[in-house]
Amino acid sequence: MKVEFYRHNLTDQDKREVDAVIDSLFLTTGEWTKKFEEKLALYVGSKYAVGLASCTNALELALKYFCIGQGDEVITTPMSFVATANAIEYTGAKPVFVDVEKSTGNIDADLIERSITKNTKAILPVHLYGQICDMRKIRAIADKYNLKIIEDAAHCIEGTRDGVKVGELGDIACYSFYATKNITSGEGGATTCNDQNIYEWMLKARQHGLSTNAVNRYVKKYEHYDMEFLGMKCNMSNIQAALLINQVDRIDGLLTAKESAAEKFNEGFKNNSHIGLPSVLKNSKHARHVYTIWVSPDKRDEYMDKIYESGVGVAVNFRPIHLMKYYKEKYGYKPGDFPVSEKIGSSTISIPFYPKLKDEEISYVINSINKIVTG
Ligand SMILES: *Cc1c(COP(=O)(O)O)cnc(C)c1O
Repeated sequence: MKVEFYRHNLTDQDKREVDAVIDSLFLTTGEWTKKFEEKLALYVGSKYAVGLASCTNALELALKYFCIGQGDEVITTPMSFVATANAIEYTGAKPVFVDVEKSTGNIDADLIERSITKNTKAILPVHLYGQICDMRKIRAIADKYNLKIIEDAAHCIEGTRDGVKVGELGDIACYSFYATKNITSGEGGATTCNDQNIYEWMLKARQHGLSTNAVNRYVKKYEHYDMEFLGMKCNMSNIQAALLINQVDRIDGLLTAKESAAEKFNEGFKNNSHIGLPSVLKNSKHARHVYTIWVSPDKRDEYMDKIYESGVGVAVNFRPIHLMKYYKEKYGYKPGDFPVSEKIGSSTISIPFYPKLKDEEISYVINSINKIVTG
C-alpha cells in the first residue's frame, strides 16, 4: 500500500468557483478576495482579514507595520519552519530564540522574560501543529514591556485555548494556505486583526503602498493613484481566494475528520513504549495540522527511511531553526543552545494526516510504524 504524506481536499465546488473567476473580468485581487477575507475574519472571530500571497509575506508585513527593523529584536521559537525567523531577518531585525515546552513544542512563556532587552520590540509565537501557545501569559509579558505580539498561525486557524481564539490576544495573526496546510490554495496567506488602522495599512501595503487597488483603478472611471509608502507586492488573487472560500465553510467538518484520525493513531500507538506523542492541552481546540510521533533520536533517521520504504509518507516538523547553516554562521548558535527544541527536532517524525485518509490506510500506517519502531 502507498499512503502519501498529504492529499488536498479540493472539490468540484472549488473547481466551479475557480471557473467563475476565469469567466469574470479580474483574475487578481477583487470580489472573491474580499469575500474570502470576510469569511476568514468571521470564522476566527477577528474584525478584519487581508488576503496575501503567503504567510511569510504576512509575517514580514506585520513586523513592518510596527516599524520593526535594524537594531530591533523579536522573540520567537526555534521549533518552527524557517519562514518564522526569516520574516524577522527580512526586516533587518534579529530573531531571538526562546526554547519550547517539552510537552507541546510551543514557546515556553516562562522563559520569555529573561530574553527581553531594551531592543526587544515584539514576540512572535508559533501555534505549533495547531495548539495555541499560552497567549494569556504572553499578552501579560507583552503589556508589561510594551511589546507587540504577532501570531504565526500557519498551523492554527481553528484553535482555541481556555476560551482564547487565535488572533484574539495578539496584535496581528498570520495564516498560511500553502499546499499542505489545513485549507489551501497551493500558495497563499492572510493576516487578521481588530484594528482598523492596521487593516487599512495592510490593504495598501500588499500592493506597493498604492492608494487604490487594480480593480478600483479599472472598474470605475480611471483615477490616478499615488504611492503613499514603500509596500510589498503580495496580494491574494481572486483565483486563490476562489479556491479558499468554500474550504472555510467546510473547515469544521475537515477538522472533525482529522480529529477522528488522530484518535485512531493515538489508540494505535498507545501500547508502543518507544513512541511518544506531544500532549494535547485540556480546555482547548486543537487545529490538528500535523500528527507527529517522537522516537529515539539516534534511530530517527533510520526509522524514517524504513517507514518511507514501507510506502508511508513522512516529514520532519521541524529541525530547529537555530541549527540551520545560515543562523549558525550569522549568530554563532550551536548545539545545546535550545536543548528542548533540539530534542524534539531530532526525535520527531510527521506521518500522513489529512481528512481523506481511509481507515485501512490509517491501520496500515499504524501497523507499519509499530513493526519498525521497536527499540
Ligand atoms: C508553512 C509555514 C509558514 C510559511 O507559510 P507560507 O505561506 O509558505 O509562507 C510559516 N510558519 C509556519 C509555522 C509554517 O508551517
